[in-house]
Amino acid sequence: MTFHTRRYRIGLVSNRHHQDGPQSALVRLLRCSAETIEKHLQPELIVVGRTLDAMEQLNLLPDYPHIERFPYGHQGGLMRLVARVVDTDPAQTLDAVIYLIDPTDPSSTFPEAVALKRQCIIHGKPFLSTVAAAREWLELEAIATGAPSNPELDSTFDLAQEGIALIAHDACKERMLTIAKHHFNLLDQFAFRCATGTTGSLLNQLAQQIKGEEAGRNWVKPFLSGPMGGDAQIAELILDKQQCRRVLFLEDPHVARQHEADIQLLERAARTVTDYAMCISDAQCTERWLTLMEKRVAMRTA
Ligand code: PGA
Repeated sequence: MTFHTRRYRIGLVSNRHHQDGPQSALVRLLRCSAETIEKHLQPELIVVGRTLDAMEQLNLLPDYPHIERFPYGHQGGLMRLVARVVDTDPAQTLDAVIYLIDPTDPSSTFPEAVALKRQCIIHGKPFLSTVAAAREWLELEAIATGAPSNPELDSTFDLAQEGIALIAHDACKERMLTIAKHHFNLLDQFAFRCATGTTGSLLNQLAQQIKGEEAGRNWVKPFLSGPMGGDAQIAELILDKQQCRRVLFLEDPHVARQHEADIQLLERAARTVTDYAMCISDAQCTERWLTLMEKRVAMRTA
């Protein structure tokens, strides 16, 4: 998508537990990102009924003018968001979805919730299901418009203290290599990189081509192959908050996946530590994310 010929349109919804009370995830996100939303990015927010009720009760973005009320979940609000993601009309479509998912809420596994993520991936639109993902995406898109950086987030861009996980399904492995080559310098700044087995060995071959045989050999730490449990191993790293908050996971939404449960497990791990971790699930968003990260990291060191 080319930025920014029109106001961004962002779907916003959160599970019940994440919107109730003054310390809820919705509050944490909208407090941290209030200035980014109100002053810099100024997106149209398309907010599902109960989430908007909570925002009103909790006095979040109280005078923000660009809000559209969407039906309640029980009236099909989430199902309608899926239809908006795939809509080609610029006045109707959504450019990104923020869905703050509580992994213990069964409604987060309803078909419309699964379809919402899948259609975001298919249409190359960010599906942001953790506080950390939404906060960082808003920050990066705001600086793309020339906004100043949010100092509250500075430490998360100190890449020498950060790890990153890289995973690609078979049909996306070529694309992962292209992306890694293009953004090699940025990825190289991380304290460490890890990956599922096959993706990891391909990335180490790439690193050997770029850095030389010896220096590139262990560029990425490969865990087991995804279907053999690699996703679960990376999930544990995230749950432990062992310096790995970002997962770039190029998912193939067009094939039946025998290890679907493992894939879901990894994403649910990120949602369990929602302020800490994020998964980015498609190539287009990954490319843009890394491009804007380069800009943001440079602002930090400037
Ligand atoms: P792989 O695992 O990198 O070992 O192929 C990725 C996956 O298919 O989950």
